[in-house]
Amino acid sequence: IIKLEKVVKRFGDTTVLNELDFEVQPGEKVTIIGPSGSGKSTVLRILMTLEGIDSGMIYVAGQPLWHEYKNDALVPAGEAHLRNMRKHMGMVFQQFNLFPHMTVRRNITEAPVHVLGLSKHEARQRAEEYLELVGLADQADKFPRQLSGGQQQRVAIARALAMRPRIMLFDEPTSALDPELVGEVLSVIQRLSQEHDLTMLLVTHEMQFAQQISDRVCFFDKGVIVEQGTPETLFANPVEPRTREFLKGVT
Ligand code: ATP
Ligand code: MG
Repeated sequence: IIKLEKVVKRFGDTTVLNELDFEVQPGEKVTIIGPSGSGKSTVLRILMTLEGIDSGMIYVAGQPLWHEYKNDALVPAGEAHLRNMRKHMGMVFQQFNLFPHMTVRRNITEAPVHVLGLSKHEARQRAEEYLELVGLADQADKFPRQLSGGQQQRVAIARALAMRPRIMLFDEPTSALDPELVGEVLSVIQRLSQEHDLTMLLVTHEMQFAQQISDRVCFFDKGVIVEQGTPETLFANPVEPRTREFLKGVT
C-alpha cells in the first residue's frame, strides 16, 4: 500500500534519504527505529506531503504520490492530487498539534466537515465514536489545555481516525509525554494494531512496544534501511554491526 523507489531527499548539502527503497503491505504494522537524524520523521513527512522529494517515486494505494498522470504523461502532482492522496493517511505527531482554540469535539469534526464534506451531525457522531475508542467520551466539550498530555495525544489519534484513513503514521507519539502518561497512549495504539485493515507505520523509541505490535521492524541509518525483519529476529539476532550498536545503546 506504500512503496518508495530510490527516494532521495536533500536539505541543502545534506542527503537525508539516500535512494531509499521501502515497501509496506496493506494491513501491515511496521516500526521504524534508528538514531537521531537518520531520516525517520522525514519519511513520514514526505508521505503526508509535508515535504517534497528530490528524486525517486512514491506510490500510495496504487497511485503515484508526488506525481500524477496527465494525458498519459507522468507530471509533478498538483495540489488537487495531493489533497486526494492525503485522505489515505492520518498522522499523529510527537507534539499533539491540536487546535488550541477549539473544543475536543471541534478538533475532531473540523476536517471531516471541511475536507470530506460530512454534515455537522455525521461528523459529531463520528467524533463520539472515536472519542469512545480512545476512552475520552466524557471530554468532548473541553479545550486541549484542560487535558493532560496523554489525553491530548489520544484526542489527536481520534482526530486522525475520524478521517477513516487506510494508513496511520505515528511519529514518536509518546516521547513528549511524562512517563506515567505513556501507557494510556500506547494501549490505544496497541488496540489499533489489532485492526487487520489498518496499515500502521510507527516511529518509536519504545523498543518493547515495537516488539509487541509490529509485524516488521526497520532499522534506519543515514537515510537507508540498514536491516529489517520480524521483531523477534531483529531484536534477538541483529546481523549488521550498526544495528547491534544501536540496540545496545537503547535497551
Ligand atoms: P529524530 O530521532 O531526532 O527525530 P529523525 O530520524 O526523525 O531524527 P529527521 O527529522 O528525519 O530525523 O531528520 C533527518 C535530517 O534532516 C537531520 O539531519 C535534520 O537536521 C535534517 N532536517 C530535517 N528537516 C529539515 C528541514 N526542514 N530543514 C533542514 N534540515 C532538516
Ligand atoms: Mg524524528
